[in-house]
Amino acid sequence: MLEKVEGVIIRTQNYGETHVIVTLFTDKVGKIGVIARGAKKPRSRMAAISQMFIHGQYLIRTGRGLGVLEQGEVIQSHRRIREDIVLTAYASYIAELTDKLLDEKTPNYFIYQQFTETLKGLTENKDPLVLTMMYEMKLYKIAGFAPILDYCLRCKRTDSINSFSIKEGGVLCKNCLHIDPNHVPINEAQLKLMRLFSKVGVERVANISVKDDNKNLLKSILEQYYDEYGGLILKSRKFLKQIDLLS
Ligand SMILES: [Zn+2]
Repeated sequence: MLEKVEGVIIRTQNYGETHVIVTLFTDKVGKIGVIARGAKKPRSRMAAISQMFIHGQYLIRTGRGLGVLEQGEVIQSHRRIREDIVLTAYASYIAELTDKLLDEKTPNYFIYQQFTETLKGLTENKDPLVLTMMYEMKLYKIAGFAPILDYCLRCKRTDSINSFSIKEGGVLCKNCLHIDPNHVPINEAQLKLMRLFSKVGVERVANISVKDDNKNLLKSILEQYYDEYGGLILKSRKFLKQIDLLS
């Protein structure tokens, strides 16, 4: 069956001498793997449409097993991302995270839209770390391990919240923080920011101003949080860390 989908390439893998297996994150059918025949041959028309981060309209042949990429038309090439090592590092990270956390062939239009907005934000010079964290928190919800941020996860009160517990998966109030000796103290601004990141769409990133200290604290919390619950090793995170050390 031939199917027309809109999607972004979130992974590419060489297959044999000349082919490439492309993972597409699509609006209608979710995440799918398709083979782009001859995509490694120079001047192949497939090569032009099977690069990482390309957002396009694709015609795919589906059936049993791996689909086949028949044709494609570029909507956004995102060449700027591929040509900039910092942007590549961030985009690779969110692409890998998406690939790891979403089930195959399970569409989720909201995440799809947030993903394309994140890439767009990266090309528009919006804060890459803020974009990434906002997207990440949306993804954690879908993956089923979003932290509890609205109330103390032990006593459910909504006031006097002053710490985050990686182990318990959310925030704790001043009376309950003792249940996790490794809790991370957070102030009101940091709590507010965390809630904002988890609730507000990535497209509104320009309206959010974040102090470096807060940003770095949230980054460290999210990293530890992912290690605890995401559980899958991300190659792209190592790359992102190296880039971070350079800048
Ligand atoms: Zn409490």
